[in-house]
Amino acid sequence: MAKIVCVLYDDPVTGDPKTYARDSLPRLERYPDGQTLPTPRAIDFQPGTLLGSVSGELGLRKYLESNGHKLVVTSSKDGADSVLDRELHDAEIVISQPFWPAYMTAERIARAPRLKMIVTAGIGSDHTDLQAAMERGVTVAEVTYCNSNSVAEHVVMMTLSLVRNYIPSYNRVVKGGWNIADCVQRSYDLEGMQVGSVAAGRIGLRVLRLLKPFDVKLHYLDRHRLPEAIEKELHLTHHSSLESLTKVCDVVSLNCPLHPETEHMINAQSLKNFKRGAYLINTARGKLCDRDAVAAALESGQLAGYAGDVWFPQPAPKDHPWRSMPHHGMTPHISGTSLSAQARYAAGTREILECYFENRPIRDEYLIVQGGKLAGVGAHSYSAGNATKGSEEAARFRK
Ligand code: NDP
Repeated sequence: MAKIVCVLYDDPVTGDPKTYARDSLPRLERYPDGQTLPTPRAIDFQPGTLLGSVSGELGLRKYLESNGHKLVVTSSKDGADSVLDRELHDAEIVISQPFWPAYMTAERIARAPRLKMIVTAGIGSDHTDLQAAMERGVTVAEVTYCNSNSVAEHVVMMTLSLVRNYIPSYNRVVKGGWNIADCVQRSYDLEGMQVGSVAAGRIGLRVLRLLKPFDVKLHYLDRHRLPEAIEKELHLTHHSSLESLTKVCDVVSLNCPLHPETEHMINAQSLKNFKRGAYLINTARGKLCDRDAVAAALESGQLAGYAGDVWFPQPAPKDHPWRSMPHHGMTPHISGTSLSAQARYAAGTREILECYFENRPIRDEYLIVQGGKLAGVGAHSYSAGNATKGSEEAARFRK
């Protein structure tokens, strides 16, 4: 029997919904590169319902308990008296989501002697100290592609919201106003702008594809170049440095993983190389940016806007400057946890668990760490090391 600790975000304040806005989800066959959607043997949940919050339990309870395992589900994850900390001592598997991450630091991994696997029910395993997982021989897996397209849609929404000054205009209507000049004094067309993606992986490439019909000029930065045919199809300009990309772009979208190489890549120095009045969209990870440098760039006008849904730590303390800085379009971390995405990452988590318990190999595309080293997708997109430093700040949210 294994004990699985699953950390999920809180239920809606009004309780689990009795009805939903829509009755069904569109059926998707494959991801754009041909990868199959998750293939668990079965699912015990209704796609389109809340699965990522505590009551939804990722639809795992029936499967795990009927196989003799113990499932503990909690949203209490930060601070020394958290349920997560109390349950770690005999946990074999810890599951959490980047939206409400269980920060699996070296200290926590050391306090979990039976720990064999850490699963990200989503994409992005930077909330786990990958170095410590490698040293302890703990497997780290995530549900690659499950919400990449969801995030790309969010990037398009946020890009348009900032450039067209949507949020302040909306707020003016809600408050009973009609002052058009106030709304449009910061409103532009996206058409003709230079738009760049930092990374052209699953999300980055999708963002570039979705934005192409707006007749923008597209740029990207990535360690590996895209095939020539894609560069030609999308008229892409490749850059080999952040400085070269940001010097020409009006909109910059961050779409790379957080790992020691990318931590704080946007800082006071690199922001000086942006065009004055650029827009920065970050749905990748909060720690890619220096928190105070972003706020200062909005204050000074170096950036015209900043939007995204990723913070560090999560949940962000109530006094986090990104809640109150000017010209921002921040949401809590929601882009990858639409009801549509939840159905995919719940099924993918189930697939990973089935493989683990049946001693079948976990798909290479889901592996980040295995056998003491970066593996599968992790070997391609991450670098060794630890990006969890400072995560204890998350405990301040509840205070
Ligand atoms: P992919 O692995 O498909 O793409 C990541 C890309 O980043 C790869 O092309 C990789 O390049 C590139 N990359 C890595 N390091 C660097 C670097 N130093 N400079 C430039 N490019 C780099 O992942 P996804 O596109 O699916 O997701 C990307 C990230 O987005 C995730 O790691 C996660 O942090 C975040 N995310 C956020 C979500 C949300 O809800 N807001 C949901 C899902 C993901 P290469 O491998 O070619 O070297």
